Order: sequence, then structure tokens, then C-alpha cells
Amino acid sequence: MEHFLNYIADAWTDAGRALTVHNPASGQPCATVAQAELADADRAMAAARACVNRRSLTDVRPAERVGWMLNAARAIREIADEGARVCCMENGKRLQDARDEFTEAARYFEYYAGIADKLEGTAIPLGKAYLDFTEYRPHGVSVQIVPWNFPVSICARSLAPALAAGNAVVIKSPELSPLAMTLLVRAVADAGFPAGSVQLLCGEGKTVGHCLATHSEVDQIVFTGSVATGQSILRAAAEKATPSVMELGGKSAAVMLPDADLDVLLDSVRTGIFFNAGQVCSAMSRLLVPASRYAEVKKAVVAMTESLVIGSGDEPGTDLTPLVSARQQQQVLSMIEMARAEGATRLTGGYAPDRPGYFVAPTVLEATPEMAIAQQEVFGPVLVLIPYDSPEQAIAIANGTCFGLVAGVFGQNMDATLGMARQLRAGQVFINEWFAGGIETPFGGTGLSGFGREKGQEAIYSYVQTCNIAIRLRT
Ligand code: NAD
Repeated sequence: MEHFLNYIADAWTDAGRALTVHNPASGQPCATVAQAELADADRAMAAARACVNRRSLTDVRPAERVGWMLNAARAIREIADEGARVCCMENGKRLQDARDEFTEAARYFEYYAGIADKLEGTAIPLGKAYLDFTEYRPHGVSVQIVPWNFPVSICARSLAPALAAGNAVVIKSPELSPLAMTLLVRAVADAGFPAGSVQLLCGEGKTVGHCLATHSEVDQIVFTGSVATGQSILRAAAEKATPSVMELGGKSAAVMLPDADLDVLLDSVRTGIFFNAGQVCSAMSRLLVPASRYAEVKKAVVAMTESLVIGSGDEPGTDLTPLVSARQQQQVLSMIEMARAEGATRLTGGYAPDRPGYFVAPTVLEATPEMAIAQQEVFGPVLVLIPYDSPEQAIAIANGTCFGLVAGVFGQNMDATLGMARQLRAGQVFINEWFAGGIETPFGGTGLSGFGREKGQEAIYSYVQTCNIAIRLRT
């Protein structure tokens, strides 16, 4: 089995212990990775601090950073095929989707390369006696804690703007899916950035992750993961008032309006909840359907769901891939069981297919809005159908969870569709296509889905702080 290393202080580094990574499609071990310990975390933070202190990322002309960013983007594109195979093996996702992660990662580097030399401050008029201006300064050492569901693209989503703005970065990769990120970091590490700009560690969240987030050298935390972990990091961050970006979970609703096109809706349901086996923070986990069309939509959604092909990510034609681990599979199955015990109706799926690997059949449940299955994140291929009687009721149900990551509206009358979209509590609202948008469009949550924005031009401001310089002139 191949053994993967950590990257600390510009060297690929082993550790005393190793974590075994399993292929979710077979349940078999497929590789090992060096398991960082607290001393490794200290060394990584020290290397990042030394990079910040040398000012080699910040004192150069920004055009130099643009060059490094573009080198990284090119190198990421070159390793996309190799990286995709590793990502598919460790994570279970479809090979093409794994490849798309690398393409997206390259796009993040290209996109933020375009901003690296345009972080312009403002001159503020204060009259003849003063010259006043603002400049954007990087935080310094950015600790980035990444989840397993899109390890490559989520890693690049924070790493690219952080480097573009001149931060040194320490990345904590997820225990379940740390391998493909190693290839990503190798591409970035060879792109010309100054010594100590990037470190990568795989280690336990509650030890190494906690150590990084509470470290004396941390200047910023970017956390993507579960609400519970985010809350524990925020409590720890309060100690030093460390600026944080929190990208947490979701229970996102699509609202179908009475005039919606059923085929358009079905396409979005297919990707919205079944892409990546539903292990997507912005998954369409609830579908709100007008009572007048409920019977028709229920039948069509169940038929589409039952047509999906279950298979491993490297089998051509697969629609529904395995969950990442046996634990995640058990968690999803037990949430379905609890939903049925609470009175939800199983329309299809709800079981583990009889095959090796961590599969759960694509599942559709009928539930009422207050049931746990309609309130809590499942992080699996489970859609909850909920009928509604009026637009006001649909808005109340859609907004009636503690989350607010994304939402969607499907309809043909733009006044009604946009009117509904504007009343949904979410950081991003899709109209007539779930996952519309891209790396160019700001993304992030409200409520327990977190705060701060990633993606788009707006995200760069998560990676800098404004300094105002006010000069009294001798006039
Ligand atoms: P998780 O919170 O268990 O783990 C995320 C990361 O945090 C891992 O690297 C883990 O090792 C680390 N970690 C765990 N405990 C820690 C601690 N005490 N201190 C510091 N780090 C710690 O989440 P997960 O199961 O890997 O990911 C699934 C969750 O992530 C879901 O809730 C999903 O909605 C969310 N998510 C959100 C987004 C987004 O952009 N909003 C994207 C992907 C996933």
C-alpha cells in the first residue's frame, strides 16, 4: 500500500504512526498516511510564522504572487488525472467528479491570481490637512481545517485566496480522505511560493486540529465541517478573538412553485440530493411541493430515484456512489429508521444494498416539517418530501430550521419565483437549477450554517484585514 506524507517546513515528512485509509466502495484498506502529532503541529505553525516574519509573501510586488498562483494552477491541471484516481479510491466519488475537483482547484488558483495584484485600498478625503488611506493586510498564519466530502476543492477554496492575499497556511486534512490533498499541496508547493508558505498535516481532529485552532501562532481560522466541531473551535477561538470563517452544515430546501417545469425540477433533484451520495453541505435535502401537484411530483421523484444506478465511482454509468465510511453509512441508516419511528413514510430506498462497501440506496421519505429528519442534516442520499398549501406556508417551512446555507425556487413566473427567493433565509438561492453559480459566486451560510463567505471576489476580504493610515500634513 502506498504511504502518504505530511508537508512541514518545505519537506515531506513521516510520523511515528500511520492512519489507514479505506476504499469506501469495497471497505478494504487502500493506503496509509503519516499521522501527525502535536509536535508536528508546532513545527508547522513555527514554519508558517517564520514565513510571515520574513515578509517574503507580502513584501514582493503582488505580480510575483500572481505568477506563483498561475504556476500552481497549471501544475494542478497536470496532475488532475492521477489525483482523480486517488480521490475516487479514498472517497468513493465518481472518477469524473473527482477530476472536476482538481479542475475546480485549478480555477480557484487562476481566479484568485487575478485578484492578487488588485487588492487596492481607498483614499479617504479628510480635507487639506490630512492624507488618509486604507490598505489590506493579510492575517498572517491561516489555519485551514478541511472536511472529507470535497477535500481537494474545499482545500483550494481557502488556500488560493489566502495565498493570493499573502497569508502563510497550515492545512489540516481530514482523517478519512487525506490522500488527494497531498497531490494538490505538492503542486502548490512546487509553484515558487516562498519557504514556509504552505504546510499540510493529517491528524486527529480533536488533538491536532484542536491544537492548530488554539495555537499561540494562529492568526485566522477557516473551518469547514460539522456544526458541533465548528462550535467547539469558536469557543476556543474566543480566547484569542481569532478571526474565523465558519462553513458548517445545512438542511436546504427547494421550493417548487405551482407552475414549475417538472423536468427541470427532476434534473435538479437528481444532482441536488444524489450527487456525491448526498454528502454535500448544500444538498437539496428537502423538497417542498404545492399540494395541487404533490401526487404527480411524488410519483416522478420516486421513479427518477429508482432509476439511479448504484456503483463504485470508477464504474462507468454510476449515479449513486458509496458513503465515505461504515460509520457514516450506519449514521444515515439509523436516521432513516428514527424517521420511520417518528411517523415519516418511506417512499423508496432506506436500506443498504447487498454488496460490499458503504452504500445506502437512494432514499425518498415523506415527512412533516417538524420531524427530526426534516430538521437535521443527514449527509447522505436522503430526500424529504413535504407538501405545502400556500406560499406563506412554504416560506415558513423552508426557513424553519436552524440552518441557512442555500435554498432553491423552481417556477416559471419570474415575479413569483424571485419574490419567493428573496424571502428565503440562506446565503445563496438557486432559481431553476440547483448548484447554479460557481467559484465566482459568494458562498456561505447564516444561522448554524456558519458565517463568512468563500468563493467570488468577496471571499478575498475574509483573508485580509483593513488598516487605515491617517497622516497629518504640515500645511
Ligand atoms: P467534522 O466536523 O467531523 O470534521 C471536519 C474537520 O474538522 C476534519 O478535518 C476533522 O479532523 C476536524 N476536527 C474534528 N474535531 C476537531 C476539533 N475538535 N478541533 C479542530 N478540528 C477538528 O466534519 P466532517 O464529518 O468531516 O464533514 C461533514 C460536515 O461538514 C457536514 O456537517 C457538512 O455539512 C459540513 N460541510 C460544510 C461545508 C460548507 O462549505 N459549508 C462543506 C463541506 C462540508
